[in-house]
Amino acid sequence: MIPLFSTFVHPTAHARVSEVLTSQFLSEGRLVKEFEARLAAELGLANPAALNSGTSALHLAVVVAGLGPGDEVIMAPQTFIASGLAVVQEGATPVFTDVQYETGNIDPAAIEASITPRTKAIMAVHWGGYPCDMDELHAIARRHQLVVIEDAAHALGATYKGRPIGAISEYTCFSFQAIKHLTTGDGGALCCPDPARAEEVFRRRWFGIDRDHSPMSELGEREYDLAELGYKYHLSDYGAALGLANLEGFAERMTRRRALARQYTAGLSQVAGLQLFEQRPDRESAYWLYGMHVERRLDFIRALKSRGIVASVAHNGIDKNSLFGGKREYLTNQRRFDDTQIHIPLHDALSPEQVDYIISAINQGW
Ligand SMILES: *Cc1c(COP(=O)(O)O)cnc(C)c1O
Repeated sequence: MIPLFSTFVHPTAHARVSEVLTSQFLSEGRLVKEFEARLAAELGLANPAALNSGTSALHLAVVVAGLGPGDEVIMAPQTFIASGLAVVQEGATPVFTDVQYETGNIDPAAIEASITPRTKAIMAVHWGGYPCDMDELHAIARRHQLVVIEDAAHALGATYKGRPIGAISEYTCFSFQAIKHLTTGDGGALCCPDPARAEEVFRRRWFGIDRDHSPMSELGEREYDLAELGYKYHLSDYGAALGLANLEGFAERMTRRRALARQYTAGLSQVAGLQLFEQRPDRESAYWLYGMHVERRLDFIRALKSRGIVASVAHNGIDKNSLFGGKREYLTNQRRFDDTQIHIPLHDALSPEQVDYIISAINQGW
């Protein structure tokens, strides 16, 4: 079977992680700092704070944005439950708004109808790594004084009008979970271009203690005054060692991934009963997923399975879950999206020959 995902571990990772294990400095230290510095320098991320998961990044963004009970966060249901959980965890309310059928991303044209006096934020999920319409989202946010939080768990390495995802909005959240583009085993990052906000993130990811300005006293305890609620959300140095190893050649891996995506696009653009997701020239997807809509989807999945290929929806709209209040039938694009979306393998272990094989397998019909 050709799997949908693979986990990429760079050959140098074993030695780098072993070195940390031998050093006995396992928790957050020098390597976390180095990992953050390289994420900023090589991927253009704004003040990335390395965390223990993408879910922690989302939660910390919601906390630092000051969202709480009574506040509404506009978001598309086309995501993983983590996006909604981060909002609910602080007592705020996700207000599910329709997607663009062509992308799975939030539809800016649908947002204003969802805005109420309680609306405080828009959460933009870049589905599959394809950037949302950020200019339109920011225009709405400015007009209504809303905060923009990006769930960029799929979008490390993506660009929007030449700018890297991770430097555009007040908050951008990445995931370094095992099957994401860049993994630290589990991990994530929260990026805030505003230095004061970034400083708050760095403090609150580690109990609310300012690590750099809390010297050890002669008594042997750090000197600090805990003034706000903090969390234990930092990345460890052994995770950072894996992340640093996996950053080697990251740009080349993304180039290769995009070439495979172009190969799919060329081979699948004329297939009856199949509509590829939109790809606009003003933005570059990170292609965590390669997605499309197909007619008779179960037949498609079964036909591919019989030819040794995994096809998957990855996730359907999260609003259907009881915790989030159940399926919103009025979100017509989301419901259509749920019915026809599908993704085919795209990962680092995939060869151009396998992509050719998958293209011909789909062209045989289903
Ligand atoms: C993976 C993922 C997350 C959560 O990331 P973790 O690192 O697993 O906590 C959040 N949102 C989306 C859309 C994801 O795919």
